[in-house]
Amino acid sequence: MAALDAKRVVILGAGVSGHTAAQYLTREFKGSPVEVVVISPNKQWNWIPSNIWVGTGAMPGKKVVFDLPPVYRKMGAVFHQAKATEIHPEGDGEGTKPYVVFERTEKGKEGQVDQIDYDYLINATGPQLNFEKTPGLGPDGYSLSVCTKDHAVEAAEELQKIIRELKATGEKKTLVVGMGHGTCTCEGAAFEYAFNVDDMLRKNGVRDKAELIYFTNEVTLGDFGVGGMQFKDNGYLTDSRLWTESIFRERGVHAVVGACATKIEEGKIYYETLDGSGHELDFDFAMLLPPFSGVPLKGVGPKGEDIGEKLFAPNGMMKVDATYGKTNPDDWVAADWPETYQNPVYDNIWAVGIAFAPPHPISIPNASPNGVPIAPAPPRTGMPSGTMGRIVAETIIDRIKNPETAEPHRASLTRMGAACVASTGVGLKAGSAASMLMHPVVPNYELYPETGRSKFTTGDVGLSGHWIKLMLHFMFIWKARSRPFWFLIPE
Ligand SMILES: Cc1cc2nc3c(=O)[nH]c(=O)nc-3n(C[C@H](O)[C@H](O)[C@H](O)COP(=O)(O)OP(=O)(O)OC[C@H]3O[C@@H](n4cnc5c(N)ncnc54)[C@H](O)[C@@H]3O)c2cc1C
Repeated sequence: MAALDAKRVVILGAGVSGHTAAQYLTREFKGSPVEVVVISPNKQWNWIPSNIWVGTGAMPGKKVVFDLPPVYRKMGAVFHQAKATEIHPEGDGEGTKPYVVFERTEKGKEGQVDQIDYDYLINATGPQLNFEKTPGLGPDGYSLSVCTKDHAVEAAEELQKIIRELKATGEKKTLVVGMGHGTCTCEGAAFEYAFNVDDMLRKNGVRDKAELIYFTNEVTLGDFGVGGMQFKDNGYLTDSRLWTESIFRERGVHAVVGACATKIEEGKIYYETLDGSGHELDFDFAMLLPPFSGVPLKGVGPKGEDIGEKLFAPNGMMKVDATYGKTNPDDWVAADWPETYQNPVYDNIWAVGIAFAPPHPISIPNASPNGVPIAPAPPRTGMPSGTMGRIVAETIIDRIKNPETAEPHRASLTRMGAACVASTGVGLKAGSAASMLMHPVVPNYELYPETGRSKFTTGDVGLSGHWIKLMLHFMFIWKARSRPFWFLIPE
């Protein structure tokens, strides 16, 4: 390799996408003058998909996290336990370098503000868990969450308490699992958690005493925020609506669809449905996912002025090479979706994973006659998030090594697939999964005129899917720990 100039790549966020980018960058540049710096508020990495198991008590919380600092030392990356607060993409003006301001969260240094300049910046800050959007939503209010390891541990404690009460008194209880607002995403995760709660209640012999309700902003079951899917199941063409409905019927899970939670009080969800009518739902246990927005990051110009509009969409997520502003679903095409994840104004800034602003929803957005939104946001699952982290790392590697000729690497959600494996149980012999393979995530009618998706879009129920989920748990934690041959494991 020709001698490289000293450069600094700063990555904001050490989740699925940012950590993947850091792995590929350090694999290339370890020991060279190119420095890779990761800024993230938590020193632990969390394999979020397995929080579903933690949230029922089937898996201990410590199995889904590990400490990042020793891994980054081994990788040769600099790690700051901190949260980024400002991006100054033009530095302080002519002749100065762009920089990021961050506030330390490390024990003993909390609140200390620092800054670091960069040549290349990857925003991989994931979602802001926007519990505030529905009054009373979330662990600080009256419902539970499984979005972080700690949330999941708390949800498990509450679920186990309910199970103990069901065993002791035999009195019926209502458990609600679903979405805490009309604009939520991650319906697949809520579906999976409902499936696991059902399993835990059965294992404890109290399923008949529990009413389990799936509460969702999807207008029909099986929408999953991707407009539903058509696929082959045991050789027959079916769709995700029929498939999901039959799974829920078989398990006795009732569903409230097309709903936006408007307020949560102790033991009560207030919600509005598409026809504009208001309802109440009493509960003894409620795990309701929050809507997502971008994390609070300011864009600051050289004179200290607010240049947030150049960097961020109104939802706080970062603008990338997507076509924004198309409000009519009839106008939506595959080419609206980004491929390089580069910010259109600053060509040394990228946003990956949940941090990038999608051009528009995938499911048709609805609202009640009172203007209450019932509009699932597009899901950004782990596989595509990891892939985006990798391809942006590859783009930066090429730019550093061959600045004159480098071309951006590309990966569009209209070509990438994703797996949603709703698996129950954690052992090898017992367990079952409803597994869906969706390819591509965003329907691409130019490539697949009939359904928008390829023949690799499938649905299946059985033990094999459960094995896949269990295997993914171990494989991804192996990969994230940068254990030997980690790079052979695909994102
Ligand atoms: C309950 C649940 C279950 C899921 N199950 C699945 C599944 O089965 N399969 C699947 O493919 N996907 C699943 N997903 C989605 C998957 O977790 C996400 O796609 C993935 O985590 C997104 O990666 P990311 O890097 O964008 O964000 P994250 O993984 O959330 O990482 C974001 C990182 O940025 C950090 N950060 C936040 N603010 C700042 C700041 N200001 N400065 C610096 N860093 C910051 C965060 O602390 C975090 O480390 C699930 C999600 C949830 C919530």
